[in-house]
Amino acid sequence: MARMRRPLIAGNWKMNGLRADALALATGVAEGVKRAGWIDREVLVCPPATLVMAVSEAVKGSGVLVGGQNCHASVSGAHTGDISAEMLRDAGASHVIVGHSERRTDCGETDAVVRGKAEAAWRAGLLPIVCIGETLAERESGRTLTVLETQLKGSVPVGATAAKLVVAYEPVWAIGTGKTPSVAEVAAAHAHIRRVLTGLLPDAGVVRLLYGGSVKGSNAGELLAAGDVDGALVGGGSLKAEEFLAIAKAA
Ligand code: PEP
Repeated sequence: MARMRRPLIAGNWKMNGLRADALALATGVAEGVKRAGWIDREVLVCPPATLVMAVSEAVKGSGVLVGGQNCHASVSGAHTGDISAEMLRDAGASHVIVGHSERRTDCGETDAVVRGKAEAAWRAGLLPIVCIGETLAERESGRTLTVLETQLKGSVPVGATAAKLVVAYEPVWAIGTGKTPSVAEVAAAHAHIRRVLTGLLPDAGVVRLLYGGSVKGSNAGELLAAGDVDGALVGGGSLKAEEFLAIAKAA
């Protein structure tokens, strides 16, 4: 029987990659995915904006999906240096990450801003991956679940359904640090996220919830097996094709 929530393994390349290396990485992932012939999981790569078009061309026909790492809420206009969801779509993207903690921190993105970006993704026909996650101070003061609830309620637009939304739980303290929550902590956070989504969506039971934060080939098996985990958002571990494919294999 097909799983109700097809696992999604998403690579966030962040601000890494010049054309030659990025194309080699994309080709490596595409070849691995083709070889594996997976139909029970989705593999997505999110290169820097400069490479979305070239990577889309490079992975064509392999089944690998391509996404952006951010978008502006507007279609076009006087927003120097920004790109719209429509531009990502035009360059070959099908997904976009919104509200990554690095953007929330570096660019002061609030929940309302993130919600506007998710709405822009819908407008352009992209699937938004809405990121939420607590800081270390929030976790240590016992506020993790409250923070996740506030971020979800503020960042998920009205009208969301499982087909139009992916949520990524990324504890800020686990990103790029080599630290991860325990499997039980991941499962507890994901169960809470799904409970909160039940109040926001008609079909919260089938929304895909990704875990992100120091996922590697060596820990993907146990993290992805945690309750309510439907895939991973992977930073550092997505920059080497072999490592990223090992994570996808564990899904
Ligand atoms: C991320 O930035 O989305 C991420 C999860 O990074 P890393 O895997 O490097 O912790």
